[in-house]
Amino acid sequence: MNFIETRGNQEGFSKEVTFSQALLSPSASFGGLYVPQTLPAFDASFFDKNLSYKALAKKVLTHFEIDIEETVIDEALSLYDKFDGPSNPTPLIKIKENLFVNELYHGPTRAFKDMALQPFGYILSHLAKKEGQKYLILAATSGDTGPAALESFKNKENIQIACLYPDGGTSDVQRLQMVTEDGKNLKVIGIKGNFDDAQHALKTLLASDTFKTQLEKNGIKLSAANSVNFGRIIFQIIYHVNAYLALMAQNEIDKGDKIYITVPSGNFGNALGAYYAKKMGLPIEKILITSNANNVLVELIQTGRYDIRDKKLILTLSPAMDILKSSNVERILYDMFGAQKTKAWMDDLNEKGFYQLSSQELARLQEDFAATDSDDTFTKETIASYASQGYVMDPHTATCLKAVGTLEENSLPDVLCSTAEWTKFAPTLMSALKKDDSQYSDKEALEYISKTLDIPITPSIKALFTKDVYHDTIIDKASIEAEILKFINA
Ligand SMILES: *Cc1c(COP(=O)(O)O)cnc(C)c1O
Repeated sequence: MNFIETRGNQEGFSKEVTFSQALLSPSASFGGLYVPQTLPAFDASFFDKNLSYKALAKKVLTHFEIDIEETVIDEALSLYDKFDGPSNPTPLIKIKENLFVNELYHGPTRAFKDMALQPFGYILSHLAKKEGQKYLILAATSGDTGPAALESFKNKENIQIACLYPDGGTSDVQRLQMVTEDGKNLKVIGIKGNFDDAQHALKTLLASDTFKTQLEKNGIKLSAANSVNFGRIIFQIIYHVNAYLALMAQNEIDKGDKIYITVPSGNFGNALGAYYAKKMGLPIEKILITSNANNVLVELIQTGRYDIRDKKLILTLSPAMDILKSSNVERILYDMFGAQKTKAWMDDLNEKGFYQLSSQELARLQEDFAATDSDDTFTKETIASYASQGYVMDPHTATCLKAVGTLEENSLPDVLCSTAEWTKFAPTLMSALKKDDSQYSDKEALEYISKTLDIPITPSIKALFTKDVYHDTIIDKASIEAEILKFINA
């Protein structure tokens, strides 16, 4: 199957590329993204509750007819064996009647980003090796993409990776996961700015001909590890289907029954995966989006207007969702309304700071999505209340509980996507449990939570505090390009 461009292109018709081309070179004409030309439909053989995660993943990838050899797909998927549950990397836990948590964080860096970045990194470096071509991978992170991308690409042949994070905008654990990562092909750069600044720098470099020419002089091509890359999205379809099969296996639903899926959203990659799964035939009644005080997505889904004109990024307790420009909304708009409209809206957003759907278009969007925002008070109360009932969740997952009260059909099961392990956000958990607003260090908070709730600290997280620091670069936004060129010339 081929991939096409969300904003069309100069010649007026979309350029078609293969899956590997879309991976290696993810930015499309006019700053657009690549999307599948058509979506395959699930047939009855997908709804087999005995399918292992890997077997299901293989079926999905094969169904997309991607141009990757079968042995490479198998090797990429075998990386899920390293996750906690060797046979099931994403356990589905029942926390209440009709309420389930899809734990997506059992990979090496304890955030759901590993679900896609582990196999994606393997496939991308395989392609680079096969082409005999060197690649620079850029990643912008608010805290979870960076560690997951570094972990996936470190010491991979023909790959160098530069990772941009907002200095002071991540937790200690997240920062340590990046700056203690050792590998000759890695560069970790703290920038004075927020996540939108980091992501903006990444998009600018991806689209910059002068930057690419500089790289080419060194024999290097450019790609990206953010969810602008479809190579990540394809792996984010699978776990939604797997949750459905798990509900069948746990005798909670029969094949064909509808469910809700609730997704704490930032760049909208996870939610997009659920949307594609729904379109491919997974019986999802609706996808419920949750956000924090940065509620641009919620406004879009509730009112049809995406408006960042008088919005400033607010730092919250769920930092992976602190974002104003959410990349993957564009893929939804394209899928529903086509390239011409998508391009006009994206131009409006860049030039005027907003775009507006018509009431019919809004109604179409609301057929698939509903949305609710949460605030930090709700997040902390929810964490404390579930912890006292024996279930420990991170602040992003906690926002999902806000959506539960809004369901139209509350007799249907609701699967909440749990996107990070509590260990990445222990200070928030500690102040939630103590019902105060104090700032705790990650280290003391990890120990406090572990002792109070009698749960272990994941060994790889505990080990971070005694590892050597390899990266200490903190720079202004204006120096990013020069710093990266220095790294590749070293
Ligand atoms: C990345 C991330 C999100 C947001 O996911 P998107 O796919 O970008 O919407 C939510 N929670 C956590 C913990 C994350 O790391």
